Amino acid sequence: MRLMKRLSILLALLIPFAANAQEKAPPHIMFVMHGGAGTITRGSMTPEVEKQYRDKLEEALRTGQAILMKGGTSVDAVEAGIRVLEDSPLFNAGKGAVFTHEGKNELDSAIMEGKTKMAGAVAGVTIIRNPISAARAVMEKSPHVMMVGRGAELFATKMGLEIVDPSYFWTERRWKGLQQELLKEQERQANPHAEIKSDDETRHGTVGAVALDAAGNLAAGTSTGGTTNKQYGRVGDSPIIGAGTYADNDSVAVSCTGTGEFFIRWTVAHDIAALYQYKGLTVEQAGNEVIHKKLEAVKGDGGAIILDRKGNFAMPFNSEGMYRGWIGPDGVPHVLIYKE
Ligand code: ASP
Repeated sequence: MRLMKRLSILLALLIPFAANAQEKAPPHIMFVMHGGAGTITRGSMTPEVEKQYRDKLEEALRTGQAILMKGGTSVDAVEAGIRVLEDSPLFNAGKGAVFTHEGKNELDSAIMEGKTKMAGAVAGVTIIRNPISAARAVMEKSPHVMMVGRGAELFATKMGLEIVDPSYFWTERRWKGLQQELLKEQERQANPHAEIKSDDETRHGTVGAVALDAAGNLAAGTSTGGTTNKQYGRVGDSPIIGAGTYADNDSVAVSCTGTGEFFIRWTVAHDIAALYQYKGLTVEQAGNEVIHKKLEAVKGDGGAIILDRKGNFAMPFNSEGMYRGWIGPDGVPHVLIYKE
């Protein structure tokens, strides 16, 4: 009896330590972002501009990570991280969106939750400051998955999201980018047989995030201004579930960037998830299969970020560079730009 009593005293003393040890174990979280793929080389970048990109990506990574560390959901982290990049003129999303042929900014965005496979998207919106939040509102507050144009804008207004004048999205850099593209278009018309390439420096900057939260749930989101000089009403892959954005707790979370027309036709995000789920490929193998083998073969340029529930991630791209980074429980942001 005495022994039992001693044992129970010992246990009572030890239990708080065990609980404490458990409390102190960092949550198993991961947050990965991209800021677009394209012809991004060391030679094309000044150290000052490079620093601006790195700083902004680090800020966005830290923002998402802080939410995950506090037990916030993967959807919360994805939305918050993307909003930071949407508010920056550096990226082709939100404030820094590229121009259409007519000189307008038409934005696309999507978000998806891996646990429930709920998803929301908006396309061709012109007055919503943060399209990723509008995509989330469609997911959570409407019975639909995608809303476009005026309807999406009315819905966002009703939901109390921040509405801006279209001129908010005007930036000199993107305007010059459009002028260059218009000149190239004229040259192409004058010399139909010459190969006049678009300068994709004016395009890249689509942003995306994938997150794993402490509860083990995945989410993905993407936001973009699309491609410079796109025609009215053109919608890219970013807001299309399974093309530019996808998340499923049974496989992976994916956000893509690149020439949207290819990513739509090759259903890139879902194809990566399917290779992981049905073929048992790793995140690297699944990403390489689609981005390097399938897309490279047809000259579809771009990349993706991919994250599974174990926290494994990959960031394949077949272009010169891709703004990308990750941050885990230790809170140290890692940012890469070029082929390293
Ligand atoms: N994927 C985007 C689109 O086609 C553009 C990009 O990622 O650069 O709209």
